[in-house]
Amino acid sequence: MAKSIGRPAAPGEASGAAAGCGRLSRRGFLTAPAAAAAGGLLGGLFAGAACADALTRDQRDKMTPEDILALMKRGNERFRKGDEPKRDYLAEQKASAKGQYPAAVLLSCVDSRAPAEVIMDLGLGDVFNCRVAGNVANEDIFGSMEFACKVAGAKVVLVMGHTACGAVKGAIDDVELGNLTGLLAKIRPAVKATAFEGERSSKNLAFVDAVARKNVELTMALILEKSGVLRDLASKRAIKVAGALYNLESAAVDFFA
Ligand SMILES: [Zn+2]
Repeated sequence: MAKSIGRPAAPGEASGAAAGCGRLSRRGFLTAPAAAAAGGLLGGLFAGAACADALTRDQRDKMTPEDILALMKRGNERFRKGDEPKRDYLAEQKASAKGQYPAAVLLSCVDSRAPAEVIMDLGLGDVFNCRVAGNVANEDIFGSMEFACKVAGAKVVLVMGHTACGAVKGAIDDVELGNLTGLLAKIRPAVKATAFEGERSSKNLAFVDAVARKNVELTMALILEKSGVLRDLASKRAIKVAGALYNLESAAVDFFA
């Protein structure tokens, strides 16, 4: 099967023509509506077969950015329902050791409770992941994303913030601490740009989360502003820059679009 962000379909997971691996590498990949629409090729690969252990170039290249985002959404649904099939990491490691064909590059926070691969049921080789407090971007992040998309073929750039983010709270509170001061300065424009009725303090989690969302939006815009390489790919619809906010309480990843 294709990979999925993938492995074998879980009991009760989508059945029917497109059933199979729902993960990116295997299973998510196959069950995506667009993947199903792709028809014969994917169906042939998956029909009656065990899921592949890692995304192949062919599988990745057949997916659109929208397919990939749909698989990530399904992966998060599996995570929060607790119905993820057991993942064979060693099989994924062996399958991906000689090459990688990740479908996306993520920019997410270092928060220990928000590992993108876990909360979206992703496997080895499925995505690149840049992690930095407050999911802020700089030249090194832009360069990593350009490598991921232009050189390695990833089709989605996903900026993912999360609720109750400590870095966002620090930016709101104007915290100063060593090198953290400069990092928080990158979030401060989002604090200023957040329209909010009510108490604008780090004690008000509604405000904190509104700033986190704005921070993702501004970072998405910054990526397209500062990277001509990614802007060009996006204008050709070869990639899609997307945003999301992970809710620590509900375990749901809220995709902006
Ligand atoms: Zn955070």
